[in-house]
Amino acid sequence: MAMASQCEKCQGEAVPAAQMRTFEHEGQTLHCLAFVSSCNVCGHRWKDEIHEAVNSHHVEEARAVATERKHASFDTYVGTASTNQSASESQPQ
Ligand SMILES: [Zn+2]
Repeated sequence: MAMASQCEKCQGEAVPAAQMRTFEHEGQTLHCLAFVSSCNVCGHRWKDEIHEAVNSHHVEEARAVATERKHASFDTYVGTASTNQSASESQPQ
């Protein structure tokens, strides 16, 4: 009754591994993190249902961000230009 998954190839211990997942959503290409199980011994990777809940959460998050981005106008990014740093680079003399 071990919670940890085992590699189907070598029965090695599986550890969670993160990888980028790309998918389409309303014509946009989105990226999110997806967890898979990775064998500590032979490196075999596979989709594991123990990560499914987290992965689908990541997908939902990425979709939500994409939807917000779509509805938000560009002036979200205006107003962040408060550069107090005057370009005072110490010039070598
Ligand atoms: Zn293995």
